[in-house]
Amino acid sequence: MSQSRAHRLSRRRILSGVAAGAAAVGAGTLFPGRRGWASARTVHKHADLEAIVVSDGHFVLPTGFLVAPDSPTAEREAALKAAGQTGDQFQLVNNVVVIRRQSDLILVDAGTGPRHQPTAGKLAENLKTAGIQPADVTTVVLTHGHPDHLWGILDAGDNRVYPRASYVVSAREWELWADPNVLQKLPAALPKEQIVGGAQGHFARIRDKVRMVRGGDEIVSGIRVLETPGHTQGHISLELGGGDGLVISGDALTNAIISFQYPSWRVPVDHEADRGIATRLRLLDQLAADKRRLVGAHLPFPGTGFVERKEGAYRFVPA
Ligand SMILES: [Zn+2]
Repeated sequence: MSQSRAHRLSRRRILSGVAAGAAAVGAGTLFPGRRGWASARTVHKHADLEAIVVSDGHFVLPTGFLVAPDSPTAEREAALKAAGQTGDQFQLVNNVVVIRRQSDLILVDAGTGPRHQPTAGKLAENLKTAGIQPADVTTVVLTHGHPDHLWGILDAGDNRVYPRASYVVSAREWELWADPNVLQKLPAALPKEQIVGGAQGHFARIRDKVRMVRGGDEIVSGIRVLETPGHTQGHISLELGGGDGLVISGDALTNAIISFQYPSWRVPVDHEADRGIATRLRLLDQLAADKRRLVGAHLPFPGTGFVERKEGAYRFVPA
């Protein structure tokens, strides 16, 4: 492609992005108090339901958490380069989906909170910029019990950040963290004591406000639970109908290059790596076939796009 054509295309993309943003922030949005676009984007709107993505910031993990050390060296290095990652540290953004439907205001995960890394834990602050006060949140759906999804439910003083919210967790996930043998159910790559202690401590503070769900259950009308186990034993995603449809996939697909081009690579931090692979392949196949929109917690902000088949694997197409 010539430089000038590439320039025109990228300019057109930027302009159309600005236009779409400007349209959504007007009278049509269900988030009328939103002041800025830096940390919030609409990803789905249908009838009386709107889903936006709000940033929790970003954090780094050891590369060995996410990329199979037994993957072929040349392919692994090429994939890391394509993913914009270098060296031993892997940078992840943290996206949180916020859904408004009538009087319901639903967070899908809660970010890292104040005990993780200083560049993350920005959700509550960015929600305020989006015109959402903590007391407005009616429901927090937790895709799983890892720190970057769960720990944001509590502040530095261990108080609940969302005072009026009730919580939704899969029954299988609740059982996992309550299991006396839970340490044996986590992979060696994870700092197990820290993660188990954190999950148990945070879940204990919401015990009286939790509703447990299984695959097929509805959170509210039009938002359905999809079981996507592997990353953790009880990991769930959500499906929304209308328009392009939307699948909120949590950590079933964690990287825009590796999870799509190499879905059969084992992810070291998946609690059940083989099941994680099976879930990824099933989800990718369905998303490509149905042409449904996807939003992932750690895909480049705002983490949304479509899945296409490519050379025996898949490709993430941000949109
Ligand atoms: Zn995560």
